[in-house]
Amino acid sequence: MEKDRSLQPPPPHVLVFPFPLQGHINSMIKLAELLALAGFKLTFLNSHYNHERLVKFNNIAAHFERYQGFEFKTITDGLPLDHPRSGNWFLDMYEEALEMKMKPGFAIDVAKELEIPIIYFRTSSPCSFWVYYSIPDIIQAGELPIKGSEDMNRLLTTVPGMETYLRCRDLPSFCRETDIEDSIIKLYVKQTQKSSQADALILNTAEELDGPILSQIRTKCPRVYAIGPLHAQLNTRLKAKHGESYDHFSNTLWEVDKSCIFWLDKQPNRSVIYVSFGSITSTSREQLVELWYGLLNSKTKFLLVVRPNSVIGKDGEGEDVVVELMEKSKDQGYIVNWAPQEAVLNRPAVGGFFTHNGWNSTLESIVAGVPMICWPYFADQQVNSRVVSEVWKIGLDMKDICDKKIVEKMVKDVMVDQKEEFVQSAAEMAKVTNQSVNVGGSSYSNLDHLIEDIRIMSL
Ligand code: UDP
Repeated sequence: MEKDRSLQPPPPHVLVFPFPLQGHINSMIKLAELLALAGFKLTFLNSHYNHERLVKFNNIAAHFERYQGFEFKTITDGLPLDHPRSGNWFLDMYEEALEMKMKPGFAIDVAKELEIPIIYFRTSSPCSFWVYYSIPDIIQAGELPIKGSEDMNRLLTTVPGMETYLRCRDLPSFCRETDIEDSIIKLYVKQTQKSSQADALILNTAEELDGPILSQIRTKCPRVYAIGPLHAQLNTRLKAKHGESYDHFSNTLWEVDKSCIFWLDKQPNRSVIYVSFGSITSTSREQLVELWYGLLNSKTKFLLVVRPNSVIGKDGEGEDVVVELMEKSKDQGYIVNWAPQEAVLNRPAVGGFFTHNGWNSTLESIVAGVPMICWPYFADQQVNSRVVSEVWKIGLDMKDICDKKIVEKMVKDVMVDQKEEFVQSAAEMAKVTNQSVNVGGSSYSNLDHLIEDIRIMSL
């Protein structure tokens, strides 16, 4: 008997509202598309500035028109459209929020007031979520603040599940401040702890990757959906629907230089190290030159990403150095402003990833089976690099050092001397992670549960 359509409940309507940074938009838009694939109505709320860039650099209309009821809406991020938003503008934004006594986790209050179910999606790593959650305990136990540089290698005892490897050095960068009480860290901690008031929590990871930490998080937030890596999950589901050659929407906020793919494809297998530090970090001129010498002296071919305006130098001379380096490294390296990173990591020529360990980059490297050299800058990156090197053992951690000799040694270790063991451990990690997003895998099933639970919540 045919079902009476008028009796079926309308599809749930989900509003997705990312923090206005590339890494957050990346994973949030993928989540939105996964929910749209399940037949949900979606509203993606972006800042004017980021939406303009999404439209400029991607064929956004053509991609999303296939989903009935998928719409983009925009709001201001509080800055004029021509503001460069380079450097640490987002930290300034946080500081301002703090000064204005903006309530961390305000979205929860709004949702509660409107009686709408709310699910938190923390786009950073579960290990950093757990560390932020535990910071009040670390302070109470007297393990923070850090007492100078000689104290940095001290092991912390108050983050359950991480007692054997978490050092002061591996705490989120904001913990390095001496005046903890007055620090931005308080905002992060409040925001994190408030997550337990949401109806559920989504994390971009797989049970196989972060099982022990997920068990800890579940003691505070019982309803956790580990549905990642999202880019891999989306690829699986899109390919099942549209065929093997189908790729997900790139959602980049910069113009992608695809010429590096042609260059890569001329290089031997696993011979190139890909070097990129994400969408927010800035390097000093000195750091970039040190890094570049290290790469050059390692005699390894490299593909280096230097975003426009990301090199800080005196009297505006930061950017000139890039042209100079390009000229000098013609035979060994290739430099671009912005790369198609996921595609790059999956090219056979790439044998290592010199990364800042933003969570998206880390997951993309894991899924592609590429070992890492970790050079974290701030926020969750410090703890991510520790987990990559000490727990998963799929890379080396160069944290807090930028010395051409160390760069050279690490590149040689990953690309030559310890190549076999790193290739093997990264391949094993890639295998279990990719299995998790296939039909019957943990992340695949967890997403099915999430979809079902949202349907029930919205009745
Ligand atoms: N990315 C890219 N091309 C580049 C550099 C980065 O497409 O040249 C993408 C990368 O694939 C990742 C995102 O930008 O998905 C950066 O996010 P991540 O969480 O790694 O770092 P963040 O930018 O937030 O520090």
